[in-house]
Amino acid sequence: MPKFGSKNLETLRQPLEDKVVTISRAAGLLTFPANFMFVAAMNPCPCGYFGDDRKECTWGLGMVQRYQGRISGPCARWT
Ligand SMILES: [Zn+2]
Repeated sequence: MPKFGSKNLETLRQPLEDKVVTISRAAGLLTFPANFMFVAAMNPCPCGYFGDDRKECTWGLGMVQRYQGRISGPCARWT
């Protein structure tokens, strides 16, 4: 999920909250239904082992924090 980038993911907020998506072009404004459930998952780090007690993460803490920082906090505010 972080590979999409926070700006792209934040773009999904409007259709998720409003259940419509509005496309604006020079020819005019079009609104389409967008009632959907967005389900996504992400690894805790790029290698997937951060926090795992069986295998050590190969990424440094700074890189893990940067990776996790690409998305905002829990999506509870979207409900
Ligand atoms: Zn890792």
